[in-house]
Amino acid sequence: GGTVHLDDVRFSYDNGATWVLDGVDLDIRSGECVCLIGPNGAGKSTLARLVAGLAAPDSGSVRLLGCAVFGDDGPHAESYRTARRGIGAVFQNPEDQIVTTVLEDDVAFGPENLAVERDEIGRRIDSALQCVDLTDLRMADPTRFSGGQQQRAAIAGMLAMHPRLLVLDEPTAMLDAASRAEVMAVLDTLHASGTTIVHVTHRTEETLHADRVLQLEDGRIADVSPGKSAAAI
Ligand code: ADP
Ligand code: ADP
Repeated sequence: GGTVHLDDVRFSYDNGATWVLDGVDLDIRSGECVCLIGPNGAGKSTLARLVAGLAAPDSGSVRLLGCAVFGDDGPHAESYRTARRGIGAVFQNPEDQIVTTVLEDDVAFGPENLAVERDEIGRRIDSALQCVDLTDLRMADPTRFSGGQQQRAAIAGMLAMHPRLLVLDEPTAMLDAASRAEVMAVLDTLHASGTTIVHVTHRTEETLHADRVLQLEDGRIADVSPGKSAAAI
């Protein structure tokens, strides 16, 4: 069960000379908000890509949204495609995630690719923009937005695809304090509404909103949630 299930996952960029992920076990339940922390180069982005269905491990097993995407017999391309339809991913650089010069077109891009019907796309744009508080900028040019507005636009684009899982890889890394607060407020709203969230961050204050805080170090995961004693891991 669960939204994400990783069992003994290993991942290497150099054919096993060094293991970025060296036996990772991870279970994330529906509706949970999990923060992933760890030193630079620990493999957080790599793990985020695996959890988003954007990369496959070298070995282990991976289930995403109930789809067995990777197992003993390797990757299951069809299951990857199915799982990815239910997963939204947001990355560090806000500018890279803007694809048009009209916000509503940007938000429509994802659901259009999923062949969602036109009226339904309109409704999804309304509610996604409302959620990220960008309704007033619906016809504005997102390439001219602040970084915080662009990240909220990127999140709206994901929400319009009705993801069951949202994976965010340091979405506030390039933002100033005010913009970071805007993005965190959106994540809090989504968490409260039951969206499953995996949030990579290196900012301690951003882990406060998580149900669980996991630390990646030496290729493995430890639960470092406040109040969690070493014996309980
Ligand atoms: P983090 O997100 O925790 O900083 P990454 O997942 O980005 O960690 O990287 C983990 C390790 O893998 C680092 O040593 C990094 O240099 C290396 N790495 C990341 N991406 C690649 C890549 N495309 N090719 C080769 N090595 C990579
Ligand atoms: P599409 O053809 O719709 O783009 P694919 O099934 O070809 O979908 O996979 C696209 C992405 O999904 C890849 O970039 C990869 O990250 C992941 N993936 C799917 N199948 C594999 C696979 N056989 N090996 C590695 N990664 C895979």
